[in-house]
Amino acid sequence: ERLKDGLSKTRRNFTDRIEELVGMSAKVDEDFLEELEMILLSGDVGVKTTEKLIDAVRQAAKKKEIEGTEQVMPFLKKYIAEMLQDEGQRTRIGAKPTVILVVGVNGVGKTTTIGKLANYFHLFKYKVMLAAGDTFRAAAAEQLQIWGERAGCEVIRHEEGADPAAVVFDAVKAAIARNVDVLFIDTAGRLHNKTNLMNELEKVHRIIKREIPEAPHETFLVLDATTGQNAINQAKVFMETANVTGVVLTKLDGTAKGGVVIAIKEELGLPVKWIGVGEGIMDFRPFEADKFVDALFD
Ligand code: GDP
Repeated sequence: ERLKDGLSKTRRNFTDRIEELVGMSAKVDEDFLEELEMILLSGDVGVKTTEKLIDAVRQAAKKKEIEGTEQVMPFLKKYIAEMLQDEGQRTRIGAKPTVILVVGVNGVGKTTTIGKLANYFHLFKYKVMLAAGDTFRAAAAEQLQIWGERAGCEVIRHEEGADPAAVVFDAVKAAIARNVDVLFIDTAGRLHNKTNLMNELEKVHRIIKREIPEAPHETFLVLDATTGQNAINQAKVFMETANVTGVVLTKLDGTAKGGVVIAIKEELGLPVKWIGVGEGIMDFRPFEADKFVDALFD
């Protein structure tokens, strides 16, 4: 229900407009496809994905799998659900500690996300630790500390301006010594200087690997759904600098740009693993393709 509420604006921008179009024309002809294309494009699913969807509808109509426009919505629903299915969606807590690096631009909801993740895994009885690897912003470590306290887990932090690699070194050591199940590492999100970002992430990687060669086990990229196609562009930069294994899409509540979920999967090949649907600690869930598509179409 929460998900459905959260997606209400996307639904209005996307599904409701398709329904309107279906109400106006009965035949799946080129005029209909052109209108449908406009709706999909404005729904932030991306150019390539829109082409793919339109082509699939056109082919289905040719093969008489779709005989009238009222069959287009169920077709799209099924097709998109299949597009979004991904084996790699679930976060596995196997290795001890499982090290999860969290990257993303400032303001996308990185700290909030780490707090929510910490709380989620804590509720499932995992021992969680947080590392305040963003040492550049005074408020970052402070904020992470507050989230850590709320979630009931330890936070490793140094003073402002300290070397992020030193924080990471301490955190990995502490996580091993204290038998932690999951260690989340926050990183700085300064995208304006790509070389710095790259160097810093490389250094953090090196430090982690020196202690645990197969870590980080995951690298989550946090993206803000309200930024639509901008989020896709940010993702491309981070994919060049880090081995991103999945996306956390925040602020899906109150945006009409929920179609970006589809673009992330289709244009970047990344699974959306978690979604943020509000500012509270519980406003967070694992992404499930079927539930997402149901909330979008039903
Ligand atoms: P950071 O700079 O990336 O660490 O971002 P923060 O975690 O400080 O979050 C920035 C703002 O986004 C804060 O006001 C958060 O409350 C808000 N925020 C984070 N996630 C969500 C979400 O899923 N939904 C909504 N509505 N707001 C969110």
